[in-house]
This record gives sequence, structure tokens and C-alpha cells, in this order.
Amino acid sequence: MSQLTDAFARKFYYLRLSITDVCNFRCTYCLPDGYRPDGAGQRGFLSLEEIRRVSRAFAELGTEKVRLTGGEPTLRRDFVDIIAAVRENPAIRALAVTTNGYRMARDVARWREAGLTSLNVSVDSLDARQFHAITGQDKFRLVMDGIDAAFACGFSRVKVNTVLMRGVNDSSLNSFLAWIRRRPIQLRFIELMETGEGGELFRQRHVAGTEIRQRLLQQGWLRQPRGLSDGPAQVFSHPDYQGEIGLIMPYEKDFCLSCNRLRVSAVGNLHLCLFGEQGVPLRDLLTDDRQLDALKSRIAGGLAQKKQTHGLHEGNSGMTPNLAFIGG
Ligand code: SAM
Ligand code: SF4
Repeated sequence: MSQLTDAFARKFYYLRLSITDVCNFRCTYCLPDGYRPDGAGQRGFLSLEEIRRVSRAFAELGTEKVRLTGGEPTLRRDFVDIIAAVRENPAIRALAVTTNGYRMARDVARWREAGLTSLNVSVDSLDARQFHAITGQDKFRLVMDGIDAAFACGFSRVKVNTVLMRGVNDSSLNSFLAWIRRRPIQLRFIELMETGEGGELFRQRHVAGTEIRQRLLQQGWLRQPRGLSDGPAQVFSHPDYQGEIGLIMPYEKDFCLSCNRLRVSAVGNLHLCLFGEQGVPLRDLLTDDRQLDALKSRIAGGLAQKKQTHGLHEGNSGMTPNLAFIGG
């Protein structure tokens, strides 16, 4: 039972834990100039022991699902140990990662052995040249091999994240659909979000999720009822397709009503919203095991400050310069 409830009676079973800001890709909508150290990581990113403590505190507060994210989480050399450390908590039944897929072909079987239960891989184009243009890395084949490797080592389903951008890859909707016809992939279209550094790109490239939904409904896709513990994705299925579509539409009215997640940044701040303010520092309570109770109180207390909704509609993206900074 979650002890994490906010002033609007939302319960929080889900933690998104960023373990690094570093990334080796340069996605146009996220880190167009690549990762640049800015001093935020001066003390370094959370250590394995700090990750062990923070996940234990969340587990004792009722967290059932953790997602490791970044930056690119799989670039950490101790990534396998991190998976095992989070899974030491029996309460955490699901452990996912969001990755650009760069290390998957090589390492995914080891992640699964260590306790990873699901994967989201970002793929913004099925055309190798366009993939290169969007991500700054000529790694399309490697990422596709990674997805095959995930299925081969026993993941029965893989989620793929795609950001559609006007005039870039929005005309490829039908190729994406053809791709999941015979593959058990949940393809999740994430509506481009405005960030502190991405205002201009947003104005040029934003495609409304409602537009994509309309196109899906016209092609016979059917909206699935939401499960209680589901996140904010709207899921669609089609009798002719093995794959599913998830639509993540942060600009839709009431998007925040179903919010069930909290975030901890790679430097150990609790963020109540992806687009919130500076966050509640936790790191001073992560230095040894004796501070577990104080840590739990600070997390639960911080939640009282959570606002009902983000300010994106008013063009207010909080202090989030890009999503690599807080883990998307
Ligand atoms: N590097 C990993 C990856 O790309 O999957 C994990 C971190 S990344 C910040 C997490 C997700 O956020 C990715 O699927 C990415 O496409 C998405 N993302 C980043 N910036 C975004 C933006 N401005 N709007 C919408 N989605 C964004
Ligand atoms: Fe890196 Fe992920 Fe951001 Fe792309 S979306 S630059 S892979 S953190």
C-alpha cells in the first residue's frame, strides 16, 4: 500500500530514477549540442550505494515500479549492479529502463539476468539516414539488433518511444504502423514537449497528439480501457496488428489527473513534476543507512507540495532545460 499520497489524493507507486545526465546521442529535441557538463554533477551522480538507499526508502513507502533513466542510463559501468541493487527490494516488482538502445545488443541479456523486467527504447525513425540526422549517431542497425536481442533473451514485449516532429518524421506514421504489424512492440508516440532550451524547435515541429489519435481511429485502431496502475499513456490496439500504440499527450486536458510518478534526478533531488521547480534535495540523507527514516519523511513531506498540474499550457516549462537533465 503506497504511503505516498498527495493533496489531490493521487497515489504514487512509480519512481523514475535518473542515474546520469551524460548521453552519447544528440537528439535534436533534447541535447542538440550533445551533453555538456555544467557543474551540476560536480559531486558526481548518485553512487551505487546512494541508489541502493534511495530505492529502499521508496520501496518502504510503497513504490512498486522503478524506471532507470537519464541521460543515457546504460552508459554507467555499474549499470548491472544498479539493476541488482534496486531489485534487492522485493516490493519493487517491476524495474524498467528507458534507453537509446546503444548498449542493448551487447548487454541486454545481462540486464535481464540481473533483474530488469521491461525496456523502453527510443527510435525516432525507421530510416537509417534520418535516424542519424535526428540522433547525431549512425546507430540505427545497432539499435535494431538490440531490439532483436531483447526478444531473443526472453523479453516478451518491448516498448519503443517515438517523438513525431512536423516536417521531419510525422509522414512516417504508416511505416511505423507496418513495423509493428507482426512484432509485439508497444509503440509510444510522445508528443514533443517544450523545454527551457527547446522553445524554437517546439514552435516549428510540435505535432498535436490529438492529430495522431484521429489518424489512428480512422484506420480502425481502438482505445483500450485504462488499468488502475497504468501511466498517462492512452493505449490503442487493432485486430490486424500484434503491436500496440501508446499515445502520450501531455498537452491534453486532465493529463496530470492520472499522474502516478515521482522523479529523482541523477544528483539526488526529488522532483514532483517533470516540469516543476528545483526539487527537494535528498542527498544529505543518502550517506548512510541510519538516515532511512529521515529520508522517508522528507520524501513523503515533499509530496505535500506537489501541484495539481504542470504549467506547459501557459508556456511554463519550469526550470527543466531539456529532458536529459531530469530523465524524461
Ligand atoms: N536516453 C534515453 C532515451 O533516449 O531513451 C533516456 C532518457 S530520454 C530524456 C527519455 C525519453 O524522453 C526519450 O524517449 C526521448 O525521446 C524523450 N524526450 C526527450 N526530450 C523530449 C521532448 N522535448 N519532448 C518529448 N519527449 C522527449
Ligand atoms: Fe540522449 Fe535520450 Fe536525450 Fe536522445 S533523448 S539526447 S538519447 S537523453
